[in-house]
Amino acid sequence: MNRQTVFDRRQLLLILWALLTLGFVAISLIGYQVSKRAIRDAIIGQDLPLTSSNIYSEIQKDLVRPVLISSTMAHDTFVRDWVLAGERNAEQMARYLQEVKTRHGAFSSFFVSDRSSIYYTGEGILKRVSSFEPRDAWYYRVRGMSEDYEINVDPDLANDDKLTIFINYRVFDYQGNYLGATGIGLTIDAVRRLVAEYQQRFNRTIYFVDGRGMRIEFGSQKGLGVQLRDQPGLGPLLPQILKEKRGSYQYEADGDNFILHVNYLPELKWYLFVEQNETVALTDVRRSLYLNLAISVAVTLIVIVLIHVVMVRYQGYIEEMASTDKLSGLLNRHAFNILMAKLLSEYRREPRPLSVLMADIDHFKAINDRHGHQTGDIVLKAIADRLKGGLRDSDLAVRWGGEEFLLVLKGCTREEAERIAENLREAVMATPIQALGQNILVTVSLGVSEYDGKETTDHLVDRVDQALYRAKEAGRNRVEAV
Ligand code: GH3
Ligand code: MG
Ligand code: MG
Repeated sequence: MNRQTVFDRRQLLLILWALLTLGFVAISLIGYQVSKRAIRDAIIGQDLPLTSSNIYSEIQKDLVRPVLISSTMAHDTFVRDWVLAGERNAEQMARYLQEVKTRHGAFSSFFVSDRSSIYYTGEGILKRVSSFEPRDAWYYRVRGMSEDYEINVDPDLANDDKLTIFINYRVFDYQGNYLGATGIGLTIDAVRRLVAEYQQRFNRTIYFVDGRGMRIEFGSQKGLGVQLRDQPGLGPLLPQILKEKRGSYQYEADGDNFILHVNYLPELKWYLFVEQNETVALTDVRRSLYLNLAISVAVTLIVIVLIHVVMVRYQGYIEEMASTDKLSGLLNRHAFNILMAKLLSEYRREPRPLSVLMADIDHFKAINDRHGHQTGDIVLKAIADRLKGGLRDSDLAVRWGGEEFLLVLKGCTREEAERIAENLREAVMATPIQALGQNILVTVSLGVSEYDGKETTDHLVDRVDQALYRAKEAGRNRVEAV
């Protein structure tokens, strides 16, 4: 059969592919956006504030009470009287400190006298503080500060250097003269455990920041960590955060989006930062987006391949039905019109010679009359086969009318087409056709024309028809060219 297909399948498949892809991608992306927004809303509206308030209440439980206890110690008349009386009996102070410590379940309790520089604990005299000793720097800082107290994270000298939160309260006599510092220390293990648990369970970063924007590091001995003002993304937001004291913020760093919830802890003068890396929180959603897209691609491919296979099968069948003449097996006029339009547009892109032949059986009416219509059909089919057999696959063979055939020869000049026509004519004449036990000698007349590069298909057909007419006029069984 003819290799040229009449209908274009690619375009339909392309449209189908585009529609499926568009639909799947749109659905996946909308789903992703909705989940993303829901997760972000949950992080901002619930997760971070809840974590923050849980940690805050734990800290209040752990810290606020000790501040009150230390305040009570600083204002205790026993402490002041005992110092003013000359710190004579160290055991009395030790007993007092021991009592405070056990009653309130503190980790340590202390009093440092400014007059004697002695560091008292529940066990008695621990040491003398000295301004030359780096470990005693805290005491001289407290002595010089303007606030009533400070909360300080330090290794505890009296307790194997365990990292401890100290409440350092300044003590004054009744005239307002500075007497020393007192307070209690407590391990920060409970807060630290809670922070670690939240960090691990929810992939959240939790830390405390002081009023100067320094991150407080529980892990380090110094207690103070990085200056957050220098941190990319967060740094520029920090002045606003420290001013507003609480709220939700967003910033970008290292290509990730962070959601930050800040709460101010007035008792500590610290800010509690609870931070979630949104990019990490969205990992699952993103993974399901990729999965969706992969499934979409697979489904699209399968659908396209299936439709392609079905279409190839049915298109071949339908095309043959629609484009082929039943009796001769040649193309019909409808198919010719479509294929000729293709050939002419190819010609416009790349002009190559193109010729047509019009063949007509001579005195066919007489054959019908003498041998019957059925025999006529057999003759017709035989001639069609012979004409078709003399062509290449890329050429077109069309049943133009009853016993008229139109042949299109690609890449042929008029001279070459004339030679082919002559060969066909001779081949038809040379062998009689066997039909229902009879040998029937048939001849054909042929017209030849070459496409002039400008004319319409109709014009070309008209010209070749004239050539055929001339061949008939000149006595039949001939070739004429126009
Ligand atoms: P000419 O040499 O001038 O071509 O003479 P002709 O008899 O071949 O031409 P004409 O056009 O007078 O007759 C064509 C005949 O072909 C008339 C018609 O009955 C017959 N015919 C057309 N189609 C078919 C067909 O499908 N089968 C058969 N058996 N005959 C057909
Ligand atoms: Mg005829
Ligand atoms: Mg005819």
